[in-house]
Amino acid sequence: MSRRLLFADQLGPHFLDDRRQPVLLIESKAVFRRRVHHRQKAHLILSALRHRAAELGDQAVFLRAETYGQALRKVREPLEVCHPTSRRALDFVRGLDRVTVLPERGYVTSLADFAEWADRRRGALRMEAFYRFAREHHGVLLDGGDPAGGRWSLDIENREPPPKDGKLDVPAPPMPKEDDIDAEVRADLDRWEREGIRFVGRDGPRRFPATTKEAKARLRHFLRHRLAAFGPYEDAMLSTDPWLAHSMLSSSFNLGLLDPMEAVRGAERAYRREGAPLPSVEGFVRQILGWRDYIWHTYWYFEAGWRTSNELGARRSLPGWWNDLDADAVDAHCLSDVLAGVRDRAWVHHIPRLMVLGNYALQRGWRPAELVEWFHTRFVDGYEWVMTGNVVGMSQYADLGRMTTKPYVGGGAYINRMSDYCGGCRYDPRKRLGEDACPFTAGYWAFLSRNRDRIPGNARMARTMKQMDRLADLDAVVAQEKRRGSDPP
Ligand SMILES: Cc1cc2nc3c(=O)[nH]c(=O)nc-3n(C[C@H](O)[C@H](O)[C@H](O)COP(=O)(O)OP(=O)(O)OC[C@H]3O[C@@H](n4cnc5c(N)ncnc54)[C@H](O)[C@@H]3O)c2cc1C
Ligand code: SF4
Repeated sequence: MSRRLLFADQLGPHFLDDRRQPVLLIESKAVFRRRVHHRQKAHLILSALRHRAAELGDQAVFLRAETYGQALRKVREPLEVCHPTSRRALDFVRGLDRVTVLPERGYVTSLADFAEWADRRRGALRMEAFYRFAREHHGVLLDGGDPAGGRWSLDIENREPPPKDGKLDVPAPPMPKEDDIDAEVRADLDRWEREGIRFVGRDGPRRFPATTKEAKARLRHFLRHRLAAFGPYEDAMLSTDPWLAHSMLSSSFNLGLLDPMEAVRGAERAYRREGAPLPSVEGFVRQILGWRDYIWHTYWYFEAGWRTSNELGARRSLPGWWNDLDADAVDAHCLSDVLAGVRDRAWVHHIPRLMVLGNYALQRGWRPAELVEWFHTRFVDGYEWVMTGNVVGMSQYADLGRMTTKPYVGGGAYINRMSDYCGGCRYDPRKRLGEDACPFTAGYWAFLSRNRDRIPGNARMARTMKQMDRLADLDAVVAQEKRRGSDPP
C-alpha cells in the first residue's frame, strides 16, 4: 500500500483507506513566514497536525521543514495524496513525479457530480438549486421523493431576533482541554515570534477541536443540546454570547477532522428519532450539504480569475486598525465587539462576518483581494477555497452577482433588529446625518450612491434606488462619509 501524504487539512480517518496505511505528514514553517496569521489559528493548525502525528505513531513519518519541497526531497518512496484544497497546492502535487493525486475527500458531493449537474443547467448556478440536487442525490431529509416538511427550505421559520433578556437557554459548547502538545506548540510559537515571524490577534486557550475525538464530542453535544435553538437564532447577534447556538465546527470540517456527512446524518437522526425541530435540522443540513459544498464546488468550477474580481472598482486599502484587529480604536459598538471577537477568538459567526465586517468593508470600498487575505488569515476556519465564494462573491459582490441576486449591504436598522448592539452605542441606527449618524446607515446610502451605475438593475434594487432618489440630504450624507473614509468609526 502506498504511503499517503496528508496535508494539514486532511487529518481525519476518512482521508485514509485503511487504518494501517503508511502516512506522511509535513509541518512547514514557511507558511507562517509568508503571511501574517492569527496566533490562535497558527496554534490550532500546528496542534491538530502534531496530535495526528502522535496518534499515528510509527505509522506516520512526520517531517518538520521550512518548505514542503524540502521535506519531500527526503522521501524516496512513491506517494499518493487526496486532491488538495487549493489550486496552488494542486499544481504543486501534480508537478511532482512519484506522487499520485486521488479524488477529493472531505465534502459531500463529488467534484465530478457537481460538474455534471452544473454543466446541465442553464443560467446562474444558485445555491438553492444545488442544495435541492444534493438532498435528492444523497437522499437527505426526504419523505418518499419529497422534502421532509413539504418544502426544501424552512428558513422562513428561522431568523428570529435575539431573546430580549440577552440569554439563550442552551448549554455552552464543551471546550477542549489543552495538553502537552498544546504547551509545546505555544512555546514554539513564542520562539518563532522572537525570531521575527509575525502573528496578529491575542493568544488564548484553544477553543476548537484539534483531534477527531474532540470534534466528534463537540458534534454530539451540539446535536443533543444546541441544534434545536440553531434555526431560530441562526442570524441573531448578542454582545453577551458570541456562540449562541452555532455548532463551532467549521474548523473541524476544514481541517478534515470531521466528515461533513457524519454531521448531516446525525442531524437527520436527531429529527427522526429524537424529535429535533425540522426548521433547525433543515437549516443546519443546508449550511453543510448546501452552502459549504456549494462554496467548495464553485471555487473549482468557476475560472481561477473569479478570485480577483473587483467589478465595483473598490480601490481603498484596508486600514491599519482593521489589519491589527484594533477593536479599542472603534466606537461603533457592533463593529468594535465583532472585531474584538476576531482578535480574541479568531472566530465570529456568519452574520457578524457578513453583515458587520463584510458589510462595512463593502460600504467603505476596500479592495476585495485584501479582504480575502484578511479573512483567510484571521479566522480559525479560513482557507483558500472558502474565500472566493464567501468574500468575493457573497460578501463583496465583486463579481456583480454570480452567487447572489443583490449585494449584502445593509444599514443600522438590520443590525438593530438582529442584535443588542445599538442600545449601548454612541451612534443612532436611525440617523444618517450628523454627529450621531450611524456609520452603517450613512455608509449604506453612500455605497448605493457611489455604485448606482455599476449594480445591475433588478426589481429589488430598483425600489431601493428610488428610495435613495427621494433623500433630500443624500449629497450631505455622501460628503460626510467621504470625510469619515476608512478611519475607525
Ligand atoms: C465573509 C465571510 C467569510 C467566511 N469565511 C469562512 C471561512 O473562512 N471558513 C468557513 O468555514 N466558513 C466561512 N464563512 C461561512 C460561515 O460564516 C462559517 O462557516 C461559520 O460562521 C462557522 O461557524 P460554525 O461552525 O458555528 O457554523 P454553523 O453556523 O454552525 O454552520 C454549520 C456549518 O455550515 C458550514 N457553512 C455554513 N455556511 C457556510 C459558508 N457560507 N461557507 C462554508 N461553510 C459554511 C460550516 O462548515 C459550518 O461549520 C464565511 C462567511 C462569510 C460571510
Ligand atoms: S448604531 Fe450603528 S454603529 Fe452603533 S451598534 Fe447600531 S448599527 Fe452599529
